[in-house]
Amino acid sequence: MTNYDFAAPRLFLDDDLTTGATIPLEPDQSNYLRNVLRLGAGDDVLVFNGRDGEWRAEIAEAGKKKTVLALRDRMRGQTPPGDLWYLFAPLKHARLDYMVQKAVEMGASRLQPVMTRRTQAGRVNLDRMRANAIEAAEQCRILNIPEIEEPQKLEQVLSNWNEDRRLIFCDEGADMDNPLAVLNTLQKGPLAVLVGPEGGFDESERSLLLKHPGVTAISLGPRILRADTAAVAALALVQASLGDL
Ligand code: SAH
Repeated sequence: MTNYDFAAPRLFLDDDLTTGATIPLEPDQSNYLRNVLRLGAGDDVLVFNGRDGEWRAEIAEAGKKKTVLALRDRMRGQTPPGDLWYLFAPLKHARLDYMVQKAVEMGASRLQPVMTRRTQAGRVNLDRMRANAIEAAEQCRILNIPEIEEPQKLEQVLSNWNEDRRLIFCDEGADMDNPLAVLNTLQKGPLAVLVGPEGGFDESERSLLLKHPGVTAISLGPRILRADTAAVAALALVQASLGDL
């Protein structure tokens, strides 16, 4: 494989990626390459679509309003997505943007908003979540875009939970056991992580979680972390215990 060109920008496309394909870009992507990055005809761009790996493309046409990419060669084969779900009480605006991006960078393969009693965000903008997930994947050489799920109430998530997947509940009220020691005792198998809202889980939610057979509670240490910080800490611990960090 030719040396990876870290300088070239990466774009997520929906199109099929095959040798010699020419792909006209959507206006926002064309604007990004041409006006923000000031790229023109002949410049390289890396593209991926979550199915066909990552390709080096060249700006073949750089018209006033139209940019066309010509695919040159495949840089990396497609790799299967991971299998780590991230469940979270949606936060507001910029904090949610940040949390979604960090979850993607940390390898989450599915993002599931969970509505809890103290969740601040009323509705969740899934298009905005997807745009943030794509931006994180583009910036971090990730080849897959996570599934973005519709919001569900906590009770609904738990009553439908498939116990083949262990739900790691970040419990701000948990005893201070070493979280890695707890994670390392788990059977091998698919995992999910749950982080609550800025106001935390209420007592009825904590007891519902703690008595659920598919749930394992962990502490994230003696300090109360903000939810978006907890997301990174929890996913880092889980990935470390999986050996994927
Ligand atoms: N009630 C507190 C906690 C909210 S923190 C408050 O109002 O500040 C938001 C979420 O991050 C929690 O629901 C929990 O999922 C996670 N979290 C934060 N600190 C944690 C810790 N020390 N241990 C486990 N989870 C934690």
